[in-house]
Amino acid sequence: MQVMKFGGTSVQDATAINRVIEILRQQQTQSTIVVSAFATITNHLSELIESLKQQNISAAESHINYIHNRHLTISQDLNLESEIFCFIEEMTEELKQIVLASKILGEVTPRSIDSIMSYGERLSSYIIYHAMKNAGISISHIDARQIIKTDSNYSEAEVRITDTTQAIEQFCKPLFSNHDVVITGGFIGSDSSGNTTTLGRGGSDYSAAIIAAALNADRLEIWTDVDGIMTSDPRIIHDAKQILCLTYDEAAELAYFGAKVLHPKTIYPAVENQIPVFVKNTFNPDFPGTKIINFSKNNKMIKAIAFRPGITVININSNRMLGAYGFLSNVFNVFEKHKTSVDLVTTSEVNISLTVDDDKNLPLIISDLNKFAKISVQKEMAIISAIGEGIRNTAGISSRLFGVLKGINISMVSIGASEVNLSIIVNENDMIEAIRLLHNEFLASLPHSEIFREITKTDTE
Ligand code: ASP
Ligand code: MG
Repeated sequence: MQVMKFGGTSVQDATAINRVIEILRQQQTQSTIVVSAFATITNHLSELIESLKQQNISAAESHINYIHNRHLTISQDLNLESEIFCFIEEMTEELKQIVLASKILGEVTPRSIDSIMSYGERLSSYIIYHAMKNAGISISHIDARQIIKTDSNYSEAEVRITDTTQAIEQFCKPLFSNHDVVITGGFIGSDSSGNTTTLGRGGSDYSAAIIAAALNADRLEIWTDVDGIMTSDPRIIHDAKQILCLTYDEAAELAYFGAKVLHPKTIYPAVENQIPVFVKNTFNPDFPGTKIINFSKNNKMIKAIAFRPGITVININSNRMLGAYGFLSNVFNVFEKHKTSVDLVTTSEVNISLTVDDDKNLPLIISDLNKFAKISVQKEMAIISAIGEGIRNTAGISSRLFGVLKGINISMVSIGASEVNLSIIVNENDMIEAIRLLHNEFLASLPHSEIFREITKTDTE
């Protein structure tokens, strides 16, 4: 049993959906398919809600028209039967009724917001179901609200795992006695009163991971529109490689640097249950993609050099820190008060250095910190991280790292005993050179292996 999730771009139009059908044909095992709404539909639904809030009914209607036409076109392009067209009309009518009700009520309740947001996945999963059935796949459709059970925290509902697992056991599993494939929509669920809820934007990965865990699947595949995760940004590092295998901790560290491919939090239910997660490209299905697992086969390596410019370093100096307690908490209270997240921290007896990437509230933060410490600020800095289980498992990696960067001024270093990342702060002007030096040292000369794959020209065509 495997669970395959296809994101919005993977099902953006009839051509893409036919590609997904081809991928599915190659599968040898029973599969549960989780799909997102067609690309941009959820954005339209969200804008529709905004128009409703502003009582701009004509704008709301034009979003509904767009959504209606888009589903109609895709269904026509897929040569679907008339049943689907009735379904699209019904769903559109329902949406119009919600709009009307909100207009009369003069407000959009959190419950109706989730109800509106659910239409993307409800429509996409049913249309794709019909396309797959027409293509001869033995498939059944299940409404996600029947199996994903949540609390009533609309827009960011929390999944109730025990009830969900039970519902999957009861309603989803039996479908496999007559079918090879079961399809459902991601992102949506229902609360204990049966109201529709949503799991937060991008929530389909999470739905898929929950289902994979409940079904005790052998693998979870997240199908998206990129080849997986790379050792560095290929726009800067021309010989960046594709990472075939990452641990969960490594993937989580990379997420901070905008490895947007997937948010590690959302696949946690799968990883926690030792289910390997594969990130694959629908537009390049033969490419192996990246595998994410909970343990490391090769834990002696650096896997990626990640970076982020636009960082501000704040140095906080005070004699009052000597032997005192509560000082750090005072410092962090200031950041909490101004809702600014701190990324890297180092401390010594009389000094704390920390970094923020959002400096919107910097003047307020500095003025509060100035009340009890001396402050200096360095702007236009960059954070560079070497990421890999090797950091905690291998002696000598830090000395190599500092050795290769000997010509570059490093303002801050952060490494912890159990960490899989060694981060340094340098001047933005030195960033690219530092990344190149590090990538050269740790990654460039590594051969094709179970962990890395060089990008050949045909891969990117
Ligand atoms: N369609 C939803 C969104 O765009 C959920 C998802 O695609 O994961 O946020
Ligand atoms: Mg998405």
